[in-house]
Amino acid sequence: MSGPPASPVRTRIAPSPTGFLHLGTARTALYSWAFARHHGGQFILRIEDTDVARSTAEATGQIIEAMRWLGLDWDEGPFFQMQRLARYHEVVEQMIAAGTAYRCWCTPEELDAMREAQRARGEKTRYDGRWRPAPGKGRPEPPAGVQPVVRFANPPSGVVRWDDLVKGPIAIDNEEIDDLIILRPASEGAAADGAFGVPTYNFAVVVDDLDMRITHVYRGDEHINNTPWQINIFRALGAPPPQYGHCPIILGDDGLKLSKRRGAVSVTAYRDLGYLPEAMLNYLARLGWSHGDEELFSREQMVHWFDGSHLARSPAQWDPAKLAWVNAQWLRRADDARRAALVGDQLAGRGVVAGDGTVLARACALFKDRCTTVVELADWAAMLRADVQPRPEDLATHLTEAARAGLRDLRERLAAVEWTAPAIAAAMQQTLAAHRLRMPQLAPALRVLVCGRTQTPSIDAVLALFDRDTVLGRLAAA
Ligand code: GLU
Repeated sequence: MSGPPASPVRTRIAPSPTGFLHLGTARTALYSWAFARHHGGQFILRIEDTDVARSTAEATGQIIEAMRWLGLDWDEGPFFQMQRLARYHEVVEQMIAAGTAYRCWCTPEELDAMREAQRARGEKTRYDGRWRPAPGKGRPEPPAGVQPVVRFANPPSGVVRWDDLVKGPIAIDNEEIDDLIILRPASEGAAADGAFGVPTYNFAVVVDDLDMRITHVYRGDEHINNTPWQINIFRALGAPPPQYGHCPIILGDDGLKLSKRRGAVSVTAYRDLGYLPEAMLNYLARLGWSHGDEELFSREQMVHWFDGSHLARSPAQWDPAKLAWVNAQWLRRADDARRAALVGDQLAGRGVVAGDGTVLARACALFKDRCTTVVELADWAAMLRADVQPRPEDLATHLTEAARAGLRDLRERLAAVEWTAPAIAAAMQQTLAAHRLRMPQLAPALRVLVCGRTQTPSIDAVLALFDRDTVLGRLAAA
């Protein structure tokens, strides 16, 4: 990018509430948000709910929840397109009066016949402009009983060009572009109530981007073919279009488009799997953008660095192993209280009472280096509060006669010592000496009975996290 933008930067994310917040949308939301924050501008949330049949309040709620979880705070909105119908109608009327839009009474049957005839002649199928007004052109009487749509009178020739913020210069011939339907009639029942018809995406998006004074649009590159229409509609309205940047799709680890069928693609699904929002942002940011060789950066660093340059032109591949690595790094950097709170929530979800927050915080600090996600950390912390189920094969291998005798001895000593890691370690040394055992003969059995696993961080430190009675209770099985 060459220098800072002249006018105050205003960006937006405009998800359709037909499902959860997709990872691809979260990434463009992040770019739009970071770009606005970098330039001290505004970021706007708009809910594009004109697909009435597929939009749900539940999806809107999930989108907002995911945005909040990621910490992508918006300055204005959420705006809902279905609450702006009067405004779209106003603009449609202006355009009809100005001759840049017109009513079209073609029935679906007529449109089918039109396409059929074009195919038969070997032509590209397109609307043939039969209702488009032109100087000296007569038009048929509007048929009775047919509700017209409104079409945009796209310029018939010339080239639409823009300098894409991601992909560079793009040019599309107007000849490739139809007279797009911009407004569909209200359904008959609704029309009887005087309700408005519903605008199509390419029209509503322009009216909104215009009214909301959007300066930069980042979105997925599936919208590249829509952009010429949008630019032409802006021009028809006498307004400069925003700058557009189209980000390449995200590929799944199988090289195909990331989709529901291939693993989780919603943001909140990753929260539920134990990922941290700062790790998701970090990973999503790197998936299509870079700042030198930096792999780990905070939200603040990203805002500092994200000026719209260094966005990748080719698709990025989703890499679960890298995401796990990034998450593990952020899990290690999180402070104790936050880790404890996250793990406490996980445990609560499993019906396990987390208990003392400071113990949980110490436990998380001890186990964190072995974990990738909050869920794994909770798996470790759970042994402090919920029964463990040692595997029969571990019991058979490690709970030897010698180990049992040692553990019975240790249990008596532990009943009396001060409950600290050094005192517990000293008691273990006494048991080893008294029973002529070596640590590898005692510690695995101790771990299996108390922790339900054969490997743990230093066992004295682990035991000190437990309530003494829990340890004595589990050792009673020796
Ligand atoms: N509702 C559109 C989508 O979710 C918005 C695209 C745009 O940003 O213009 O794909």
